[in-house]
Amino acid sequence: MGLLDGKKALILGVANDHSIAWGIAQALHAEGAELGFTYVGEALERRVRPLATSLGATLIEPCDVQSDEQIDTLMGRVREVFGGIDILIHAIGFANKEELNGAYLNTSREGFRLALDVSVYSLTALVKAGRDLLNPGASIITLTYHGSQQVAQNYNVMGVAKAALEASVRYLANDLGPEGIRVNAISAGPIRTLAASGISGFRNLHKQFAGVAPLRRNITIDDVGKAALWLCSDWSAGVTSETIYVDGGFHNISVTLQD
Ligand code: NAD
Repeated sequence: MGLLDGKKALILGVANDHSIAWGIAQALHAEGAELGFTYVGEALERRVRPLATSLGATLIEPCDVQSDEQIDTLMGRVREVFGGIDILIHAIGFANKEELNGAYLNTSREGFRLALDVSVYSLTALVKAGRDLLNPGASIITLTYHGSQQVAQNYNVMGVAKAALEASVRYLANDLGPEGIRVNAISAGPIRTLAASGISGFRNLHKQFAGVAPLRRNITIDDVGKAALWLCSDWSAGVTSETIYVDGGFHNISVTLQD
């Protein structure tokens, strides 16, 4: 008997086997969930399809979250194959590389729009389009980073986007709570992924993190997967509208100055 037997999970955001969404997918699969995946573009399809197949995925569909049409088509397929959604994982973020370097005040209007559209509005767009499909008791999870609360060098417009994402979680949780649907964010510590490689100085941050975080180690996609499993299961039935940190306690440490 798995914790998630009979549950259908739609997972957006696997790019490869380093993706946080992949860590979550493995944890949900291990507890019996039936999985569906999305990808963006042919290059990523070639990576996502074999991974998804290895976990017996019953649904593998394209979806660029900038397109309402693609989101609607995705939800149509979800209706046909799954009938309903018990778990929705939103592990999507994007900003142009030039926005993730130097001063925040250099953020361009288009760069701001793009980062907030892909990284923030997409959650609302998906929930809106999939609302009829969300089963009572469904759990929705998005991924955030502490750069939303405090300045993280070079994170810039993504920090602003993550602050808006965390606020979206609270509003969506309030909208959907009466239907027993829960919405939460996981705030992960730095993990070396494709998206993270676009942030200037990330390697350094990742390296120094383990020396400062109370757990004295880096965070893995496995760590995030386990927390997501808890948020998707009945063990967290009373938890909604929260940002849960999976960062080894790093966010509770004040600045440490290095010589
Ligand atoms: P990743 O590159 O593996 O995943 C990012 C995903 O976003 C990719 O699958 C990509 O295809 C998808 N994406 C980008 N634009 C899209 C679009 N227009 N439509 C649909 N999908 C799109 O990197 P990751 O680090 O696993 O990122 C997942 C989430 O975790 C992001 O929201 C990221 O901000 C967040 N996060 C990452 C870290 C970290 O250190 N890696 C820490 C905290 C939070």
